[in-house]
Amino acid sequence: METKQFKAESKRLLDMMINSIYTHKEIFLREVISNASDALDKLYFRSLTDSTVGMKKEDFVINIIPDKQANTLTVSDNGIGMTEDELESCLGTIASSGSLAFKNDNELDENVDIIGQFGVGFYSTFMVAKEVTVITKAFGSDKAYKWSSDGVEGYTIEECQKDNVGTDVILTLKDDTDDEKYSRFLDQYQIQSLIKKYSDYIRFPIKMDIEHTHYPEDENAEPETHIVNETLNSMTPIWKKNKNELTDEDYNNFYTEKFMDYMPPITHIHSKNEGTATYNALLYIPSRAPFDYYSKDYEKGLQLYSSGVMIMEKCADLLPDYFSFVKGLVDSEDLSLNISREMLQHDRQLKIIARNIERSVKNELLRLLKNDRENYEKFYDVFGLQFKFGIYQSYGSAKDTLEDLLMFPSSFDDGKKVTLAEYVDRMKEGQDCIYYACGETKDRIELLPVFEKVREKGYEVLYFTQDVDEFAAKVMIQYKEKKFKSISDGDLDLETEEEKEENKKTAEESKEMFTFMCDSLGGKVKEVRLSTRLKSHPVCLSSEGSVTIEMEKVLNSMPQNENNKVSAQKCLELNPAHPIFAKLKELFDSDKDKLADYTKLLYSQALLIEGLSVENPVEFSDLICSLMV
Ligand code: ADP
Repeated sequence: METKQFKAESKRLLDMMINSIYTHKEIFLREVISNASDALDKLYFRSLTDSTVGMKKEDFVINIIPDKQANTLTVSDNGIGMTEDELESCLGTIASSGSLAFKNDNELDENVDIIGQFGVGFYSTFMVAKEVTVITKAFGSDKAYKWSSDGVEGYTIEECQKDNVGTDVILTLKDDTDDEKYSRFLDQYQIQSLIKKYSDYIRFPIKMDIEHTHYPEDENAEPETHIVNETLNSMTPIWKKNKNELTDEDYNNFYTEKFMDYMPPITHIHSKNEGTATYNALLYIPSRAPFDYYSKDYEKGLQLYSSGVMIMEKCADLLPDYFSFVKGLVDSEDLSLNISREMLQHDRQLKIIARNIERSVKNELLRLLKNDRENYEKFYDVFGLQFKFGIYQSYGSAKDTLEDLLMFPSSFDDGKKVTLAEYVDRMKEGQDCIYYACGETKDRIELLPVFEKVREKGYEVLYFTQDVDEFAAKVMIQYKEKKFKSISDGDLDLETEEEKEENKKTAEESKEMFTFMCDSLGGKVKEVRLSTRLKSHPVCLSSEGSVTIEMEKVLNSMPQNENNKVSAQKCLELNPAHPIFAKLKELFDSDKDKLADYTKLLYSQALLIEGLSVENPVEFSDLICSLMV
């Protein structure tokens, strides 16, 4: 018989399993039982619509058979089974879910504990078994197959005999060593306690023959043993238990196992609801984003159960996009078992549940923000971007839900994140806008010429460092009736009445010069004008109209806008207090050609300060050189 080789990635994992010095090898049992339970779920679900299955709910069972003579432990289920192809693809290649955790070797070394927290499925059996045999017959097939492997030399698949549909996983345990007693996994008490610990909530009975020894009162009589086939698990799913029966560890264990994450979640929400909709929900807020979270491959959704039976792996309708990071499940008696996806979308109950879930996620996040700021910020660093997209993409209709969850770095405490409520609460007397500044980083923003002046006025500035920030602010328009205002906006209105008078006079006097300068830029700016918001810098750009300079940058960097560049309406602003201003005035009277060159230079400088590129770098450099010689 031909021996087939494992795929390279599987091989690496197998090596790790076989040579594992991991101390919690016992989790292999949880993994095998969880696979058996999934297989039962699939066939049970099928039986609801397909009478040829011919089984009732009570018929589905997992049997554990320890055999001390043969040194084997068998886990047997009468679930859906595997076809020959499935055997090949499921057990010959590591399940993709497992592979996610093994991106590179470094990660592997550092995270040996992921075996325990995360589980690595079927292959974990090789931590305790020197040989694994899987005998299986798929529902609807008349042939059975046997898969066999020592984990090292590859595996074999051959046809075999099996009467009923389902799967037997037979583990031939490794030999005991001084350090490790593998034979303990054949001990009935050991097995009973492992099942209580890891698999208690499995919905199907996990049965085993238990030996009961009865010691008669007559000391001379032989003790009697009899065997009873017992169910080892309580079969109550964790979400149906009472909160006070459960510890954080119970919740976290369930999460890491069920949702394929090796990090415990930041927080969980466990709710039981009666009323317009009757359901239990167990929701988790993860502490890290799945690697594909910000890609189009990521599928949001909650598991959906109807009275304990899973009817959908990922029900997307239960979560708005901006809460797509939430993991968890909903179990409702109100939903029919064989409701179709299409029907589900229109289901009134489901809509009510979805609304409740949205509310409870929001409230939990607000609670976290209030009581555990550090963890909220950690969460926000990972998922906060989603809220801003949410506001933008909903055209503002998600504003009410999300605005209090937003945070931005601010000038208040050297770039520490603040909420909008905090900003508004400490706004200065007479301040009527929420000021923000756009830029790649805090440092860049703080170097913006206008930043200085706004700071000097004592106004706090929010740092918009993510592309979506300003778009979200534009859609929100205001928070608690305070309008968002970019410090790069033309009409910033920061001066006192006297300053205004003064500036008006200077502007009047320089009117002709400004017109000349504007013309010499050949339409690149709408206007050259006096700036009222520069302190020590000579120039800056401001924008007018709906497209800001920052939006121009973002929109033009998107590939789909390659041939359709947008442009903000720019104004070049000059600082009348800067010595260069006097120089310009002098040139206006004496040397207009030079003034035109200086204007180009100043404009290029302003572009650079804004983080835009100079339109004609060669001309720019030539002009500087001619000044230098
Ligand atoms: P995972 O359970 O995370 O998908 P595993 O490595 O544990 O990964 O299992 C791989 C696959 O093998 C399962 O997804 C399932 O398709 C199949 N499988 C494992 N055990 C059984 C079983 N008892 N009955 C049917 N299919 C099984």
